[in-house]
Amino acid sequence: MADKKQTKRADIIVIGAGASGCMAAAAASLQGASVLLIEKEDRIGRKLYATGNGRCNLTNKDMREACYHTGGDRKILPYIERFGPSDLCAFWQRRGVFFHDRDGYVYPRTDQAATFVQAMEKELERCGVQILTNTRAVSVLPVRSEGFRVRCEQRDPGRKGRRTPASFEAASRKLILSAGGLAGPQFGCTGDGYLFAGELGHGVLDPLPALTPLRSSDPLLKTASGVRAAASIALLVDGFETDRAEGEIQFTADSISGIPAFQISAKASRALAQGRRVQVRLDLLPEFTDPVWETEKERRLSEDKGQMLGRFYGGLINAGLLQLILRRRGLQAENKAYKLSQEILGGILDDMRTLCFDVCGTGGFEKAQTTSGGVPLQELDDDLESKRIPGLFFTGETVDVDGLCGGYNLQWAMTGGFLAGSKAGADVRHGM
Ligand SMILES: Cc1cc2nc3c(=O)[nH]c(=O)nc-3n(C[C@H](O)[C@H](O)[C@H](O)COP(=O)(O)OP(=O)(O)OC[C@H]3O[C@@H](n4cnc5c(N)ncnc54)[C@H](O)[C@@H]3O)c2cc1C
Repeated sequence: MADKKQTKRADIIVIGAGASGCMAAAAASLQGASVLLIEKEDRIGRKLYATGNGRCNLTNKDMREACYHTGGDRKILPYIERFGPSDLCAFWQRRGVFFHDRDGYVYPRTDQAATFVQAMEKELERCGVQILTNTRAVSVLPVRSEGFRVRCEQRDPGRKGRRTPASFEAASRKLILSAGGLAGPQFGCTGDGYLFAGELGHGVLDPLPALTPLRSSDPLLKTASGVRAAASIALLVDGFETDRAEGEIQFTADSISGIPAFQISAKASRALAQGRRVQVRLDLLPEFTDPVWETEKERRLSEDKGQMLGRFYGGLINAGLLQLILRRRGLQAENKAYKLSQEILGGILDDMRTLCFDVCGTGGFEKAQTTSGGVPLQELDDDLESKRIPGLFFTGETVDVDGLCGGYNLQWAMTGGFLAGSKAGADVRHGM
């Protein structure tokens, strides 16, 4: 049992010092509440350093409902509108962080995630937030008329050897669960938020990897390994198109990756978990309109058939991808075009626009940028406060909301952190 005298007290405890937890802690303390921020890693914002390839793509100027997924029918934009991209940038700009955008993708002006984490640290310090790093929350308990009790274990990184972590209890009137999801376990994401949510009687929609590569066991994929190509990618579930994205696809020996593949991966993950047949269909010439394509096809098919196939189809798509398409039909780039019928020659051109792969899995949580699933929004109110247990809030990846690649997940984390922290802080101020 933790010693009662050692109980740490604060108006609000925030578990998890990632993007949403730091924002929640800052917003709560700006309302005048005392805040204890508990983080099991040795520093705050560990995952943030890796975001946007180290540049931190914080948000996006193009905010639409379609940029987010959630299991239920709640809309995400009403939350975002209360603390959206311009509010987020203005909040941090008032604290000395400036931003710029590339095609609407917003980054700190420095293009360094580290400088953003530094600014968050500075703000938390200025607000008087008490931060406990190397401290893992291991259980949470609501206590009637009192609030919450959180049992914690604190490692002493200065001490070598396998020492039992020191255990203590913390108590608060409000509790904000910002413990993230399961994506990126290498950054300390262990899904504790889902465990706590379950223990507290909340539902948790199965967490699945999102913004992750799509794996295929097609042996011919290795022919195109290392290729990057502009394409449009459609997700087929049981033969029906359910999603689509466009951009640069990256091929590896066993996966189809790159931002467009990431964008459709949440739906692919869910369909795979349901045991449905998942395929992707690539259009390697997405910029060709139908009339332009028909003209080009006609022109190609009337060319000299004495040429080798590699040359006959040259100039349209990457040679590795052409080889893959030809090998699927048992052909080689060295084969002469005249040996094939007009129908087959035309069919090869069509393959370039309808290249299908069966998807057998995803890159998993190790390669995922976010988690699809979590605490259903239906169980939370407009400030992300639990409808079951007043005073309990959930933010960020712990909640069943996942965004597209492009700053949408950090925006969601920050929006939720701001709304939950402000509400919890204001309630404390009003003696609630
Ligand atoms: C490689 C990579 C790149 C990404 N790039 C972008 C990008 O450019 N733009 C974008 O919008 N999104 C990006 N994302 C997604 C984005 O980082 C996350 O969606 C966002 O960080 C989620 O914020 P969060 O606060 O919910 O969780 P996290 O940032 O994961 O924070 C949760 C924190 O809780 C702590 N914690 C967990 N359990 C406990 C416990 N029991 N006790 C104490 N502490 C605990 C964890 O250590 C962690 O620090 C990227 C993700 C990855 C992996």
